[in-house]
Amino acid sequence: MKSVELKRLKPSSPGTSRHVKILRYGTPGAAPKAYLQASLHADELPAMMAAHHLEKLLDAAEARGEILGEVVLVPVANPIGLAQIIDGSHLGRYDLASGENFNRSFPDLAALAADRVAGRLGRDAAENVRTIRAALVALLDEYQPQGELASLRQILMREAIDADYVLDLHCDNDALMHLYLGEARWPDGADLSAELGSVATLLAADSGGTPFDETFSNLWAELRRRLGGETPIPDACLAGTVEFRGQGDVSDALGAKDAAALFRFLMRRGLVAGDPGPLPEPLCDGTPLAAVDVLRAPVGGMVVYHAELGEHVRAGQVVAEIVDPLAEDPAAQRTPVETIADGLFFARKVKRLARPGQAIGKVAGAVALPTRTGALLDP
Ligand SMILES: [Zn+2]
Repeated sequence: MKSVELKRLKPSSPGTSRHVKILRYGTPGAAPKAYLQASLHADELPAMMAAHHLEKLLDAAEARGEILGEVVLVPVANPIGLAQIIDGSHLGRYDLASGENFNRSFPDLAALAADRVAGRLGRDAAENVRTIRAALVALLDEYQPQGELASLRQILMREAIDADYVLDLHCDNDALMHLYLGEARWPDGADLSAELGSVATLLAADSGGTPFDETFSNLWAELRRRLGGETPIPDACLAGTVEFRGQGDVSDALGAKDAAALFRFLMRRGLVAGDPGPLPEPLCDGTPLAAVDVLRAPVGGMVVYHAELGEHVRAGQVVAEIVDPLAEDPAAQRTPVETIADGLFFARKVKRLARPGQAIGKVAGAVALPTRTGALLDP
């Protein structure tokens, strides 16, 4: 049965109140469980539109009695960010109060959970998963958040922590459909990639930024590392971040198409009854996130792109130029930006004013790049 819950955030400011709306389908506690949330970065509305359409599909499936597992959908994951309007412009991605990226710095629960379950695991992998999940749920229930953002993170994590599938729905700035997945879950997640029509499925064991999805996908490997030995601990969660193209790609047509793809994935994975039909031909293979060349503006100025999204570019190719009309030497008014990867140009910026060092585009190559060290995601 569908249920709707409004969970209140702990306010940071007296006299304010926000909540997260949580939609639950199927039987609480039924397996498998999927958790999907939209627009954690707040200004990424294509994800919200996909969730809006997915709600209709799930409502209809629920009415037909076709929800086999449990599906939790949070159609608006970030009411704090959604309200950040400054001088008429909406500013998502970063929490204005703290400067924190809304999708970074999620806590690593592995160490705490490992302490809780040490000595309590056995030879049965499924039983171990249940024991570990119970410990994780208890940890999150006991946590006392200090303010609104911490409270938001607690609510979202608490809903997702015992799910078999966690899909964090986002979008990029101006981009084609792409997907981030845990390296260990490839090629298991190839059906998700094909279903969504991802043109770049980017794999990392640990991107270095502790985004929401990795909290759940990396947890099990880390517990294995800490507790390992005789007690089997499987990778119990397939988690990923779906980038529903660019910020301007908001329409009913795209939302309905994306929702249908998510719904077929849920069907294919046994959460919803029915025949999803044949899996679409994949549009890409999984490639390392470390093989993505992040193009950066070496100087400030106007960005002009010399490649279109979807174009296959070659190492050494000038993908963009930065134009500074005030450069004293007219010959130095244009600074080329070359890619060092052979691959697909899949993301760029809508706003064409760049500051030095700013990321202005992404090329998905197949081979890890020596320049990609440290954190692999933008801050
Ligand atoms: Zn995002």
